[in-house]
Amino acid sequence: MPGDCAKKSRKWNTIAWQGVGLKVPRDWSMRRFDGDARKGSFALDDGELLRLQVAWEYVGKRVRFERLVERFLAKLKRRNRREKKEIECRRKVPDVKMPGREGECFELIGGSAHAGYAMLSRCKRCDRVVALQATFLPGEDREHAASELFGSLTDHSTSGMVRWAVFGLDFSVPERFAFGFSELRAGKISLGMVHRDLELIAVRVSLAELLTRDKGLDGWFREAFRKELKRYRPEVKSLSFKSHPAVEYRDGPGLVKQPRVRWRRRQGLLCRVWHCEASDKLYVAEFKGPLLSREEFEKFARSFRCH
Ligand SMILES: [Zn+2]
Ligand SMILES: [Zn+2]
Repeated sequence: MPGDCAKKSRKWNTIAWQGVGLKVPRDWSMRRFDGDARKGSFALDDGELLRLQVAWEYVGKRVRFERLVERFLAKLKRRNRREKKEIECRRKVPDVKMPGREGECFELIGGSAHAGYAMLSRCKRCDRVVALQATFLPGEDREHAASELFGSLTDHSTSGMVRWAVFGLDFSVPERFAFGFSELRAGKISLGMVHRDLELIAVRVSLAELLTRDKGLDGWFREAFRKELKRYRPEVKSLSFKSHPAVEYRDGPGLVKQPRVRWRRRQGLLCRVWHCEASDKLYVAEFKGPLLSREEFEKFARSFRCH
């Protein structure tokens, strides 16, 4: 039934970090992350139990994929021995189609009532090697869930844009931008991406209706971003964006007088704030740089998936 299908897909969320994207059960969320786009890892939990571990690196084409599998299995074995677990590994389970990549899945049996699955993949286009290890509980449709999860892997940019998705904040940036900073708090998720002196900042804030009820969108933004706006006298424009009420702030680069250091160069600012009523969230797309590229900013702002 198509209804069933739609219901099922609503229970899954996209997580995307450093160019590695996956569809995961909705209650799994980011617990920790490490490294960068070249070599790194992240892990998701369901509030209690570690559910998914993801690690990536680039290994040149000279190393055969079979050799990578051997290394991967040896590492799993070492870790199990250390944790004193007796785990048997069944190869090629689940059977996942992986067009465009060399890959193999593994079922890890034993150890506890939790079922484990792992996958190793190397992309033929970008050479990125990704290792996944997922844990499912009794009663979950494990093998099916594992194959959905593993089959959803993406590991490189599309049309020059890299997708980031975490805690419902979902957007893309041009691939030359690297991770700069994150603020992952209940109620406010913020990620900053940098390239030389350019900065792209994405923000998602909960309780939108409540926060803007008295002061409006502009009032909320000026208060919440007071520190950020201190050095600017932006032009303000109201507009509709993604069919939501929005406000835009723009101020060119310039010089600001500062105590002691006298004059300091200030980046230009291009910033759009909108209220997504459907999800009751406020979104901010911010671009800072010595030259303001309207085109790049639009691409970034339009890439947000807000509802
Ligand atoms: Zn790839
Ligand atoms: Zn929306």
